[in-house]
Amino acid sequence: MSRPTEFITSDLLNSTMSSVIMSQQTTAVEPGGNPLIEIRNTLCITIFIVISFILCKGSYDCLRQWRLRLNVVIVGSGPVGLTAALISAYSKRVANIIVFEEKNRAQLFARPQQIALDSSSISFLKTLHVDFDNIEGCWQHDRFYTRIGIFQEYLLSKLERLEDANVQIKLGTKFTEDVANKLGSKEYRTLVVVADGVLGLSAGYLGLSDEFILQSCQSFGAVCALERLDVPQFPTPETRVNRLKLDLSAFGSEYRLPELSQAAFDLKIYGTFRHRYLALTCQKCESNLLRQLRITTDPTIMRNIFQESFNTYRTKGERKVSDMEALNTRCTQRLSEIKLSTRRESVIYIQDEDIVVVVEGDAARNLNFNLGFEVNVGFLGVQYLDSFLKQLVDADTEDRLLDALKYKSRWSQKINDDLIKYRMQDAMKMTKPRLNHRKTDALSKKSK
Ligand SMILES: Cc1cc2nc3c(=O)[nH]c(=O)nc-3n(C[C@H](O)[C@H](O)[C@H](O)COP(=O)(O)OP(=O)(O)OC[C@H]3O[C@@H](n4cnc5c(N)ncnc54)[C@H](O)[C@@H]3O)c2cc1C
Repeated sequence: MSRPTEFITSDLLNSTMSSVIMSQQTTAVEPGGNPLIEIRNTLCITIFIVISFILCKGSYDCLRQWRLRLNVVIVGSGPVGLTAALISAYSKRVANIIVFEEKNRAQLFARPQQIALDSSSISFLKTLHVDFDNIEGCWQHDRFYTRIGIFQEYLLSKLERLEDANVQIKLGTKFTEDVANKLGSKEYRTLVVVADGVLGLSAGYLGLSDEFILQSCQSFGAVCALERLDVPQFPTPETRVNRLKLDLSAFGSEYRLPELSQAAFDLKIYGTFRHRYLALTCQKCESNLLRQLRITTDPTIMRNIFQESFNTYRTKGERKVSDMEALNTRCTQRLSEIKLSTRRESVIYIQDEDIVVVVEGDAARNLNFNLGFEVNVGFLGVQYLDSFLKQLVDADTEDRLLDALKYKSRWSQKINDDLIKYRMQDAMKMTKPRLNHRKTDALSKKSK
C-alpha cells in the first residue's frame, strides 16, 4: 500500500518540475519581449504550479488517511468494553464503532458492585477526558470509589455525546454466533474487542480457543460477602490491614503458637456499606496455621475470623456484625490457593474477512475469587489499544500485521506476569501499585 503512494508522489513531483522547466524554456526563447514582465509571468506560473502541487498532495494524503481506517466492534459494555470504545472514538484511524451489549440501560445502571479505581487507572482515564468531578463517587488518598453502574452510565453518555466519532451503541442486543459470522467489511479492516466478562462466550464464536492457563499467585485467600439491605448504597472507601496476626488457639491445639508468628495476613474490607466484602490473603509460607486453615472442615473458623476482623477494623459508624448476622454471611470455608486464569489466545487474525480479534478485561484474565481490584487490571489491559489501532491501520504487509499482533500478545503477557508478581499483593497493601504508566509506556516504546 505504501509503494503506490511513493510512485504517485514522485510522478506528481516530476510532472510539476517538468512544467516549471518547460515554462522557463518557453519564456527564454520568445524574442523582443519585456524581460521584467516575462520574469513576473514565469514567477506567477511557478508559484501557481507549486501551490497546485501542494494542494494535490495534501488532498491525496487526506484521502489516503481517510481511506486507511478501521471498523471497531466491541462486545460488552462493561467498564473495559466502554473504555475500549472511548479509545477508539478518540483515535483518528477508526471509521465506525459498534458496541453490542445484551443488557438494557436500566440493567446496566443497576449493577451494584463498587469499583475502586487506583491512581494508574485514574491517570489513564483522565487522558480519555474522563471527568471525575462529574461522576458520583468518593476519594480516599489517590483512589476513586464509585458504583460500576454509575461509571458505565457516565461512559455511555460520554460516548453518545461524541458526535463525530460515529459510535453505535446497541444495548439489549446480544452478540451471537450469527452476528459473528456476518462481521467484516469490504471497505475497512475490522477489529473486534471482546470484553464480555468472566462468563462471556463471544471469543469462542470468533474462533479463539476457549482454553485457559491456570497459574498460582503464590498466595492463599478467602472471601466473605455481607449484605445489609437496610443501609443506603453510598460510595464507601475501603480499609486495608497489613501483617495481621491471627490468634486461633481457642479452636484447638493445632492452631497454637509458635507457628502463629510465621503467617502474616492481609485483610481488605471493600464495597459499599450495603454490599460489604472482605478478603483475607496470605503469601505462601511454611506455617502450621496456614496449613490448618487450608484443610479445615469446620465452617465456623473462617466465619469467626471474618466477623472478628470486621468488628475490629470496620469503618467508624458502621455497626458490628452480630453472631446472628455472621451466620447469614457468604464465606469461603477455608483458605484456597489464589489462581490466575488467562486465555491461551488473546489475539487472532481471520485472513478471509480481514478481521483481528482481541480479548480484554475479565474475559481475558480473572482470578478464582474476587479480591476487589480486577477492574484496574482490565484498564491496564486496554492501554495498548491506541497504539495498536494505528499499527493495524498502517499494517499493509503480512509482516507488519504480524508485528502488530505480536505487540498485543506481548502486552497481554506482561499484564499477566505483573499481576502474578506484584499486583495481587499490591491490591492488598496500603502502598501504590508498582505497575504504573512509566512501565507500560516503556513497553510501547520498545515495541515501536
Ligand atoms: C460482586 C463483585 C464485586 C466486585 N468488586 C470489585 C471491586 O471492588 N473492585 C474492582 O476493581 N473490581 C470488582 N469486581 C470486578 C469488576 O466488576 C470486574 O473486574 C469488571 O466489571 C470487569 O469489567 P469487564 O468490562 O471486563 O466485564 P463486565 O463488567 O463483566 O462486563 C461485561 C459485559 O458484557 C456483556 N455481555 C456478556 N456477553 C455478551 C454478549 N454475548 N453480547 C453482548 N453483551 C454481552 C455483559 O452483559 C456485561 O455488561 C467485582 C465483581 C463482582 C462480581
